[in-house]
Amino acid sequence: MLIDLHMHTNYSDGSYSPEELIDYVSGRDLGIIAVTDHDETGGVIPAREYGKKRGVEVIPGVELSIDIELTGAAHLHLLGLMFDPGNVTLKNELAQLKKAREERAFMIVQKLREAGLPIEAGDLVDAVGQGSAGRPHIAEILIKKGVVGDIYEAFSTYLSKGRPGYVPKKKLKLAPAIELIHGAGGLAILAHPVSLKCKTYRELGEKIIEMKSVGLDGIEAYYPGHDKYLTKWLVTFAGKNHLLLSGGSDFHGSAKPDVEPGIGRGSLDIPTDLVERMREEKRSRK
Ligand code: AMP
Ligand code: FE
Ligand code: FE
Ligand code: ZN
Repeated sequence: MLIDLHMHTNYSDGSYSPEELIDYVSGRDLGIIAVTDHDETGGVIPAREYGKKRGVEVIPGVELSIDIELTGAAHLHLLGLMFDPGNVTLKNELAQLKKAREERAFMIVQKLREAGLPIEAGDLVDAVGQGSAGRPHIAEILIKKGVVGDIYEAFSTYLSKGRPGYVPKKKLKLAPAIELIHGAGGLAILAHPVSLKCKTYRELGEKIIEMKSVGLDGIEAYYPGHDKYLTKWLVTFAGKNHLLLSGGSDFHGSAKPDVEPGIGRGSLDIPTDLVERMREEKRSRK
């Protein structure tokens, strides 16, 4: 059995609905997944309900972008896992973030129009549907219209920081984001630590310890963008510093066509027992 604790649905920028995601993974030997949409938990309950019928256990998740000072393309994403998806404080905060994302996406469309690209607000409405609007939706439109060949070109030419369509996003600070997740009974995990773009393991270790001091519970050591050295270092580091381990593919469906559930780009090897470690940690806090 495989597990995957980082997956997106079309409630954010994934290409599959919660039900389609469950069908997709149940044919691939996955027994436990976490649905971790960007700033949005709407996909959790439908996935969980449908998962029960197909023998896939669904852990509630969310991926929050964090407002923090980092250089260049570095960014910090925080995963919340195993929280109560009905928690009202969490739901209210996420609703605000979703609204801000929508406004930002329309601003991006406007900037791209000013840059002469054939894109309209209506295209965005169609692409996003019920979801939480993100740059991958805009990339999808640009690909459909033949403006770019793929999502990577869409980002490097138009959507990344410093490009003509870039608009920053409303984000939470780290400490309040961790508090929000803890308040809903969940665990706060540093997503894909590679994205912090630290130059040395030492620098990465210092950053993680700083985050732990404001409540971080664990790190996503198993991730497609991590080489085996980084994964090994993170696993050892977590062991020494009483941090939980997590792992996931960051599956988005056709938006990242080279990534598959549970196995990432082929070699992702997530130990199934890390879910039990997380549960033990949660029980010990009650
Ligand atoms: P947003 O949350 O709207 O800023 O969009 C961020 C999402 O876009 C990430 O979660 C990735 O799924 C995707 N993304 C970010 N940078 C790139 C890139 N350079 N190439 C492809 N996808 C990217
Ligand atoms: Fe995404
Ligand atoms: Fe992320
Ligand atoms: Zn993600």
